[in-house]
Amino acid sequence: MLKKWLHKVLPGGKHNPAQHKTVLPFAEHRISADKLSFAAEKVVTRLNQAGYDAWVVGGAVRDLLLGIEPKDFDIATDATPEEVRKIFRRSRIIGRRFPIVHVMVGPETIEVTTYRGGEVHNHNEHGRIMKDNAYGNQAQDAARRDFTCNALYYNPIRQEVVDYHHGVADIRARRLVMIGEAAARYQEDPVRMLRAVRLSGKLGFTVDERTAAPIAACAHLIRREPVARLFDEVMKIVFSGHARACLRQLQELGLAGHAHPLLDALLEGAPVEADNLVARALDGTDARLRADKPVSVGFVLATVLWPQVAAAWLRYREGGMSEAAALNAAIQDVRDGMNGWGIPQRYTATMREIWVLQPQFVHRRGARPFRLAAQARFRAAYDFLLLRAEQGEVERELADWWTQFQAASADEREHMIQHAPAAPQGSTRKRRRKPKKAAAGAAS
Ligand code: ATP
Ligand code: MG
Repeated sequence: MLKKWLHKVLPGGKHNPAQHKTVLPFAEHRISADKLSFAAEKVVTRLNQAGYDAWVVGGAVRDLLLGIEPKDFDIATDATPEEVRKIFRRSRIIGRRFPIVHVMVGPETIEVTTYRGGEVHNHNEHGRIMKDNAYGNQAQDAARRDFTCNALYYNPIRQEVVDYHHGVADIRARRLVMIGEAAARYQEDPVRMLRAVRLSGKLGFTVDERTAAPIAACAHLIRREPVARLFDEVMKIVFSGHARACLRQLQELGLAGHAHPLLDALLEGAPVEADNLVARALDGTDARLRADKPVSVGFVLATVLWPQVAAAWLRYREGGMSEAAALNAAIQDVRDGMNGWGIPQRYTATMREIWVLQPQFVHRRGARPFRLAAQARFRAAYDFLLLRAEQGEVERELADWWTQFQAASADEREHMIQHAPAAPQGSTRKRRRKPKKAAAGAAS
């Protein structure tokens, strides 16, 4: 989000952005104002009525020019945060160093940012006393943005697009071009390299040569960023709706092994042309996102790291452990390996729950199927089982049985359980103290 980069201290750089302002009338951009969300249009209108400049900016303008429906709308204005705050009752200022305003209109939240200035060379003149929260004008604001396609301003009332860096031409040529000197801009903020991966992958843009060239030399800077910020950016890549294209870009741009271990796990799990469990999970996620369907982060992460869990599970079983104990040990290993990746605990908890339920699907007799089906994570674990079955990791028949079981009536379920095959050898728990009689219906 906009807020994230506004919160960064920009340490200076020599980029000298060409400040040639072009104003495109409707005939040249053809963005119809009704493509804006109700909230975005309202915020721009109200700011204009109060005498301020206000423009939709960034990804939304880029997407509108590409004919893509924008995910969200950011507004840039010459009103200060306090002034914006006064105009909108349902609004709040967030961030202290670089305050921005969240304006709530109905269910929507619009991020309103005051033009940023604070030309980076101030830093050299005054050492560390550079005023890094300085407000500026629109041209300065444009120069501080990352790519030319992201530095466009659109006003629905004037029906104009303002372009300082040939962004419109680059969008038409489907080119991702860094504003200013790319190496310096990556040093200022290494996350821009990941943004290059995501935007080029998602939009199908080619990365301009001068934008791509310094990446190899700057890649090592990425890992110095706070892990939470990196994980956020990685999530945006995985859930961009174009995860596989982004992974290809990651490799192309020379960032494999440098960006984040989760991305490396993805590249390893789903090499570019692969068609395996991880690849299918990513393709499935891409398809769901593009169809506007919800996806579960925990589920996708469980899939991505499953090959590692499965390999360790096998090793421990071969070492003589029971199924369940081996799986627990394997999960622990993989979780230890994920330390420092920045994955929030709520996701690691889901991953674990999905994984530990996997061996339980083979128990189809007695009360166990009912107990399993009543588990909170049953549905996710079942979806996961389907993926494994597609992969030939478990019998298709097993997955089909569970599909049927869920759709069956109470009577049909009883019947299914009575005729279900016994769990294979070695899949029963060894920690029972007393040998029990096999569960109902298990004999013969
Ligand atoms: P998306 O469609 O995924 O939201 P976006 O380009 O809108 O892509 P945001 O993270 O929403 O990405 O950022 C909004 C705008 O803020 C960008 O279009 C860009 O102008 C600016 N921006 C974001 N991150 C940076 C950054 N690291 N450096 C410079 N400008 C940035
Ligand atoms: Mg955006």
